[in-house]
Amino acid sequence: MSARVLDGNKIRDEIKADLASQIAGLKRAGITPGLAAVLTGDNPASQIYVRSKVKTCAQLGLHSEKIELPAVTTTGQLLDLIQNLNQRDEIDGILIQLPLPQQIDSQRVLMAVDPAKDVDGFHPINIGNLVSGRPGLVPCTPAGIIEILERSDILMNGARAVVIGRSDIVGKPVAMLLLHKHATVTICHSRTRNLASVAREGDILVAAIGKAGLVTRDFIKPGATVIDVGMNRLATPEEVRHVFDDPTIPLRELESKGYVLVGDVKPEDVKESAGAYTPVPGGVGPLTIAMLMVNTVRAARARRGMLLTAASQL
Ligand code: NAD
Repeated sequence: MSARVLDGNKIRDEIKADLASQIAGLKRAGITPGLAAVLTGDNPASQIYVRSKVKTCAQLGLHSEKIELPAVTTTGQLLDLIQNLNQRDEIDGILIQLPLPQQIDSQRVLMAVDPAKDVDGFHPINIGNLVSGRPGLVPCTPAGIIEILERSDILMNGARAVVIGRSDIVGKPVAMLLLHKHATVTICHSRTRNLASVAREGDILVAAIGKAGLVTRDFIKPGATVIDVGMNRLATPEEVRHVFDDPTIPLRELESKGYVLVGDVKPEDVKESAGAYTPVPGGVGPLTIAMLMVNTVRAARARRGMLLTAASQL
């Protein structure tokens, strides 16, 4: 039997619909949540991300500001800007698009964002809140993964969950969120021995590695739920052939688009072995921006003393 596809676009639309009614309620009370997105330098991928974040704000009726700074910006200049955004009442969320140019001290910059406006959930105060299970702003991609699992009725309570990847942005926070949902969590990384056999213990397997097709059939417990966070661009026919047993369709895509987007999980294997899985594209990806909007609304409410609800209770 072929695995169930967990459709990220559909879940994103459900979240946006829930959010739209929340935003309408806030607007009736005279509150328009506002997001400032700070883009430093000219990284093409960052430009696309920021553009689509600002566009989604407009769709949902949120106030947004795109602040573009040149690649030569200093740490001090960025800190001054953040100080100003921290003080402005109409700004509820501050997003510093990463990566920052090399000369900028990223840690100092992320620490300067008011934790109440830290819609990326990267400030140590929000990380501490996450670890200790207190209400706070949770990183967007991990929060989106939990939304996918909950809204797809995947049982987390008591399940064995294996997370491959231990980054601060994805691996560690998603492991913590799964723990709070009462899963028994194992975190794997580049030094894990017998990776495939550890992964195969997971009823839920989250791959957040950044290596195209690394997770193969032998990593997947039959019937498991596989969440593929990876976003990898294959740019040559050799790379495509390495990931796909039957590369006919992806090779055509490579020719027409110039690249093929794949996750960390081998697409042909997951369809066969998993019980349910997120495709790439169209799985975890769409949730990240939706959760940024959720966090902006949550920040707007919390800053006005309203209840900071869990994202899933919007
Ligand atoms: P990262 O490079 O910071 O972390 C990768 C992790 O994978 C590390 O902890 C490392 O230990 C582990 N790893 C590397 N090689 C390994 C191996 N051979 N075996 C086992 N573990 C290994 O990356 P990240 O920021 O966590 O992102 C991971 C992937 O998720 C990337 O492809 C990224 O593009 C993608 N991503 C997607 C979204 C989204 O919205 N869909 C958001 C963030 C990241």
